[in-house]
Amino acid sequence: MDNAKRWADFLQKEPPYSLYEISREDFWFLSGEFEIKMDAFCDKCGKERVFTCYNKEGIKSIRNEMVINTSQPMQINTKPYESMEHFVDLEFICSYCDNIHHIPIKVTVGNVMKYGQYPSYAREKTYEVVKYKNIISKYYTELTRAINLYSQKCGIAAFVHLRRIFEYLIDKKYEKYVGSPAGIKFKEKLNKVEKNEQVIPQELNTEKNMIYKILSKGIHEYEEDECYSLYPALEYIIKSILDIELEKKQRKKELDEVRRKINSKRMEEK
Ligand SMILES: [Zn+2]
Repeated sequence: MDNAKRWADFLQKEPPYSLYEISREDFWFLSGEFEIKMDAFCDKCGKERVFTCYNKEGIKSIRNEMVINTSQPMQINTKPYESMEHFVDLEFICSYCDNIHHIPIKVTVGNVMKYGQYPSYAREKTYEVVKYKNIISKYYTELTRAINLYSQKCGIAAFVHLRRIFEYLIDKKYEKYVGSPAGIKFKEKLNKVEKNEQVIPQELNTEKNMIYKILSKGIHEYEEDECYSLYPALEYIIKSILDIELEKKQRKKELDEVRRKINSKRMEEK
């Protein structure tokens, strides 16, 4: 992955206050002409756009530190600067309008910290999950709450909401195929439901029974940090499950339309 892509990934996907280890190469990247692009939702345009942070001369304060040894720039001795801190506001401009997103970072010799984001991380991530709104109805707010809590470093609390969404999905299906889900073990409910339709992505077959276990252990046993570091994986799984539900819904819609057309012909032929 090239530098710009790596930076875009970090700036976009990591919640505020996470640290990202940087090498000297990264330092050089920021000290010269650089361009970072990312897809984000633009409020003014009302849709997803490419946002670009372009810096023709690099970040001045960092560049000033980098001219110490121009003959062997990569060999730069950073020792005296280890306490050095650069506070930089990266501006990302929408490719269609003049809307600007801000991501302030703190750069030191060993790492960089994203210490803010405007519009907020949670809001940005919320746009990504709007499509699930009709799939999980009132549990949609639990999903956005989970995202919000994670952005505030609350791992355990975020787990609670993911577990409730997972339970809701399985209970609803169990009720449809078998009956009341009350008092039935989760594993059993999942097994019964999956005999009728696929819920968990095929690629996660081996991990299938661990998902609920981890979500539950997260709430009762794991430490805050453990939940926090596990959260992105669990959020990914829940979103993958919801993607399958979206696909089913879309397919049903298409098939209904196909049936409607075929049946109208059948009526004509009678
Ligand atoms: Zn725009």
